[in-house]
Amino acid sequence: MEHVLPNILDMRTVLIGFALSSLLCAGVMAALWRQNRDRFHGTGFWLVHYVLLLLGSSFMALRGFIPDGLSIGLGSPLIIAGALAMLVGVERFVGRSGLRIPNYLLLAAFVALHEYFAFDHANLNARNHLLSVAFLLLNLQCALAMFRGHDQGMRRAAFWPGAVFAALCLVCLLRIGVDLAYPVNNDFMRSNSYSTLSVISVQMLQVALALSLVLMLNNRLVAELADEIAMRGRTEAELRLSEEKFYKAFNASPDMVALVRLNDGRFVEVNDGFSAQLGYSRQQALGASALEMGLWAEPRDRERLLAGLRENGRVRDWEVDLRTRSGIVLNCLGTSNVIDVGGEAHVLAIVRNITERKLADRIVRTRLRLWEYAADHSVRELMRKALDEVEDMTGSRIGFFHSIDAERNRVDPQVWSARTNATACSVERVGHLPLERAGVWADCVRQGEPVVHNDYAALARPGGLPPGHVPVLRELTVPVLREGRPVAVLGVGNKPADYTDLDVGHAVFIADIAWSIVEQKRSYEDIVRLNAQLRSQAMTDELTGLRNRRAFFLHGEEEVRRARRYQAPLALLMLDLDRFKQVNDTCGHDAGDRVLAGVAAALRQNMREIDIIGRLGGEEFCILLPNTPGQAAAGLAERLRRSVAELEFPFSGAALRVTVSIGVSELGPGRETLEAMLREADAAMYRAKSQGRDRVLGAPTPGGPV
Ligand code: GH3
Ligand code: MG
Ligand code: MG
Repeated sequence: MEHVLPNILDMRTVLIGFALSSLLCAGVMAALWRQNRDRFHGTGFWLVHYVLLLLGSSFMALRGFIPDGLSIGLGSPLIIAGALAMLVGVERFVGRSGLRIPNYLLLAAFVALHEYFAFDHANLNARNHLLSVAFLLLNLQCALAMFRGHDQGMRRAAFWPGAVFAALCLVCLLRIGVDLAYPVNNDFMRSNSYSTLSVISVQMLQVALALSLVLMLNNRLVAELADEIAMRGRTEAELRLSEEKFYKAFNASPDMVALVRLNDGRFVEVNDGFSAQLGYSRQQALGASALEMGLWAEPRDRERLLAGLRENGRVRDWEVDLRTRSGIVLNCLGTSNVIDVGGEAHVLAIVRNITERKLADRIVRTRLRLWEYAADHSVRELMRKALDEVEDMTGSRIGFFHSIDAERNRVDPQVWSARTNATACSVERVGHLPLERAGVWADCVRQGEPVVHNDYAALARPGGLPPGHVPVLRELTVPVLREGRPVAVLGVGNKPADYTDLDVGHAVFIADIAWSIVEQKRSYEDIVRLNAQLRSQAMTDELTGLRNRRAFFLHGEEEVRRARRYQAPLALLMLDLDRFKQVNDTCGHDAGDRVLAGVAAALRQNMREIDIIGRLGGEEFCILLPNTPGQAAAGLAERLRRSVAELEFPFSGAALRVTVSIGVSELGPGRETLEAMLREADAAMYRAKSQGRDRVLGAPTPGGPV
């Protein structure tokens, strides 16, 4: 066999160099694996590759010093197994799985054939071909895996290892060609210079591979770091945005929102709603506790809340009264949760001011209460009740509610609240008060609109306070208007804080409601009085004040029924003035009227309470006498006749006299109705007329004439 090149390189030396460089590379790979095993897959297999390379080349280098079974039998298979480990590592690294089973079969076939050509039919050329082909197939797959890396960054990073794998393939191809052209003898240690050169090339390329792998990992790390920085930047921007959104929402809420440290109750964060409603700026609130600030109007509420939080970790819809910086108490509804902020327990409290809602409810209830109250209380009592309500609603300590008598320009009646009378002013009633002597509160009457004095002491001439009245610090006065004119004025004073528009609204509302009730009550009372008046007018004869015909019949018939039911005696007198026409004719109608009234008065004077007397018309009168038999009635009639005859009516310097004719009847057979009794008495009266007038005729005994 001719050598083209003289064999200047000793194979054993070359192999020892190979083993040493593999050892170096294995060390580098071990370091790479340790650093990156959590970050990248497959680096462990690269380490395995170099370790197997180290072992394979070492076994080969020791040919003649160790058994041939180890040196020839294991050297090349270890190198091919190492190449396979590299392929597995590369595939894992790029995240693709390749031809796994065919490659294992390739390894198995290689081992089998290699052993065959090592021991059964020893043939170095065949073994060299086998090694080159297997090495070529495995490195080709490595190169393809590298060049087909799935993303752009990966492809770029994998260029150099890919190139090294390609170079290895090239070396294998060359080796196959050279081996075909210049077959070697069977003495491995005396291989030709092509063989040793190819081993050196492979060795160099293995070192280059180790370096390119390090470079690739480095590239990848840098790329990932850049990605991470970009990602972190994006996350931070998102976080900032969400924080900004949260703060905007936190502050935009009209409710009070506060974050409080649980262990010391200090405010860690409060929103704009908190500051707006409670009057404390964020700076004033942060670091302070609600207890120190005096926010709890009722300190027991705090304990109640803490107990609830301790028990359940949250408290929902708890009603609580909070005191603002200016001292006003707000009715609130809150929800609190214990949350963890920075590893420490905090309370997130969301509190809604429901003062207005509660007051609106209260106004509705007050209105109903006042209506009920009005039913059995006087106007003054009702005004005082309304005033007490306004006092409570506005947190005032004193109050008055005066009615305005616009025509006489004065205040009357005057009402003070129960508390004012009890503590501030001993005067129950000061009578009429002329408006010009009234205090500054009367400005609201003059102007026809609410007036607020939150600094009463600063007023020049307040005036108008009844004696014994406590000093006024603040005052709110509202008029009650009807058709644009003030009809009443309600004032409250000495609220601990300044009066607000809300107070004005409530005072105006309740004063108006109360006054409407007063007006309705007054007009109802007027109606009742007028009705009674009307009823009595409908039953009374205007001239004499006696019952009229209708009333006489109404009561008379009732009396007849009663007498018949109890079988009591009942008599009836029918009276008619004698020749009365003459009185009218000679003295005039007015004189006649006077006579009629005088006769009626005389008759009434002689009657009992139970007797029923009426004017039936003209100068005719009728008297029903309960429990009176005919005889006694006749006697009474006689007395009446005489007393009429004795009457004197002065007229034109003379005395005018009249007489009366009287017919008597009594209840009995044939006279069982008022009508029948009247008929009988009328007949008797006419008989008296015809017998000469001025006399009494009738039925003294039942059924028979007198
Ligand atoms: P006699 O004795 O028959 O009863 O004669 P007399 O004139 O009284 O006759 P009669 O009873 O018929 O007349 C009633 C008169 O009474 C007629 C009318 O002029 C008068 N008279 C009726 N009502 C009134 C009244 O309200 N005022 C006045 N002044 N006169 C009246
Ligand atoms: Mg008559
Ligand atoms: Mg007459």
